[in-house]
Amino acid sequence: MATLYYGYDYDTICLNCGEKLALEEEEKKSGKFTCPNCGFENLIQPEIIKSDEKTLSLVLYLSFFYGFIIFPAIIYAVYKNKSRFMCFHSLQAIYFQISIVILFIIVFVFSFTVSSSYHYESRDSGLMGMSFLLISSLLVYFIGIWFSIYAAVKSFYGTRYKIPVIGNYIYERVYGNE
Ligand SMILES: [Zn+2]
Repeated sequence: MATLYYGYDYDTICLNCGEKLALEEEEKKSGKFTCPNCGFENLIQPEIIKSDEKTLSLVLYLSFFYGFIIFPAIIYAVYKNKSRFMCFHSLQAIYFQISIVILFIIVFVFSFTVSSSYHYESRDSGLMGMSFLLISSLLVYFIGIWFSIYAAVKSFYGTRYKIPVIGNYIYERVYGNE
């Protein structure tokens, strides 16, 4: 039976609850184990990535331009127990697209704070706030486009490409120490 493991060199992570686990030799051979924390039947998957998964991961990241967040969430729901590759990339696409939304909100709030706080002192400050809004939202948009296309191509070639800042956390959650 798999056991909860708190050290650094754990064998794997439960795909359902994310608990770090140590496996027995038998489980490693059989390729199956039950999570002692949540009872989820995990499959230890060899990293054989099917070609349709590669194509799907391409479509997944390009969903930045359509089906925002919803499309990756559907892919995640369908694949989370079937393929770690798709699990990793769909989670990463969800987190990335949410991060971009949060960045946009921060930019908006900051710009309006700037333009309203200086409004009575000078007309130019309102203009400054609007220019800041325009430039930084364009910047956020280009960051979104750049990493969506880059991750789409990388995943299409079957790599476990990690988007900066958010990628490490998701990688550890799906692949553990691999
Ligand atoms: Zn679990």
